[in-house]
Amino acid sequence: MPDPLHDPPDPSLLHAPTAAEAGVLRPTRVEVNLDQLAANLRAIRAHVGGRPLMPVLKANAYGHGLVPVARRMEAEGADILAVAYLEEGILLRRAGIRCPILVLGGVVGEQIPLFLQHDLRITASSVAKLDAVQACAAAAGATATVHLKVDTGMERVGVHWYSAAPLLEASLRCPNVHVEGIYSHLANSDLPEDAPTRLQIERFAEVLRFYEQRSLPAPLRHLANSGGVLQHPDTWLDMVRPGILLYGVLPAPGLPCPIPVGPALRWTSRVVYFKVVPAGAPVSYGSTWAPAVDTRVITVPVGYGDGYFRAMSGKAEVLVGGRRCPVVGRICMDQLMVEIGQGSAYNGDEVILLGGEGAAAITADALAGWAGTIAYEVLTNINTRVPRRYLPAAPAAGA
Ligand SMILES: *Cc1c(COP(=O)(O)O)cnc(C)c1O
Repeated sequence: MPDPLHDPPDPSLLHAPTAAEAGVLRPTRVEVNLDQLAANLRAIRAHVGGRPLMPVLKANAYGHGLVPVARRMEAEGADILAVAYLEEGILLRRAGIRCPILVLGGVVGEQIPLFLQHDLRITASSVAKLDAVQACAAAAGATATVHLKVDTGMERVGVHWYSAAPLLEASLRCPNVHVEGIYSHLANSDLPEDAPTRLQIERFAEVLRFYEQRSLPAPLRHLANSGGVLQHPDTWLDMVRPGILLYGVLPAPGLPCPIPVGPALRWTSRVVYFKVVPAGAPVSYGSTWAPAVDTRVITVPVGYGDGYFRAMSGKAEVLVGGRRCPVVGRICMDQLMVEIGQGSAYNGDEVILLGGEGAAAITADALAGWAGTIAYEVLTNINTRVPRRYLPAAPAAGA
């Protein structure tokens, strides 16, 4: 039976072309500037007064590529890496990442031995789950490292703040469990109003009084996502968990950002076809658009099958030779058409889908606006069919 964890599909052709192939394969690619990600990490660290950091690398590091981003974060001294799922953690271990890794998502019982085997931190979100971790660790003669998860207003995973005491109590009596951290998650930290976040901060503080009352040191307390980092210094506590901000994108468009972070991802393709479309001749499926006058149209080999949302048909713009040009007609699975009007473009010319400089830049927020979604979904939706290139390139073996 195929096992998705142990028998991944062989990605070698699309993901890691040889130097000779790289020049001739489909020219659509994502370029990730690892130096920019490192600069973002340092800027966030400085902003939060040098506190420990837990970069969030779930969903293929927000589309930037899990393993290369993790390697760089580890090299930059990230304290703990966070992923959503067990398999993301295992993938990092198999890639040789040694840094502590916390799996943020809920755990099902039969996964616990794999957490122990791969030295992954477990989110313990109920007494029953903690008991299962203790039993499993004891049976293995091991010590499990956990972070307790308290729900202070998200209703997702975690023991409710008003009934957290039994979990904290139980965690003191598990000889095979090391409680390294305790955390909660903010549901509204990216909003301009701060009342909902205030409430969550107070609820979390109430839970933490458990330790104070017993004169026990609290484990690492962490609460801040990107919105907390940006807007709520009293959520920073002992460690912060930035996701989207690490990638140089704001958790909500237009938020004031005093931290000098910048986007690290460029998504580009190249012109594969050029033609003049006569006035009145409809372009693409459904014939939803036709030019009023003869016009120049290029075809670009990228589509919704790569994660360029079809919902952006008739709305999106791309950069051709530094000029914003409209995507016309329906976006296809593997191709889209762009009207360049009286401009010129040649086969092989670069087309920027996301990225670019200054006022002309196409941002993840712009794409999100056209698609009716958020920048998070734009980034995580760029799928693995699109090869990632990293800057600076990894040093050659032995170098
Ligand atoms: C995704 C996630 C984060 C990071 O959120 P951003 O808004 O991207 O900063 C932090 N903590 C938890 C528990 C998460 O699930």
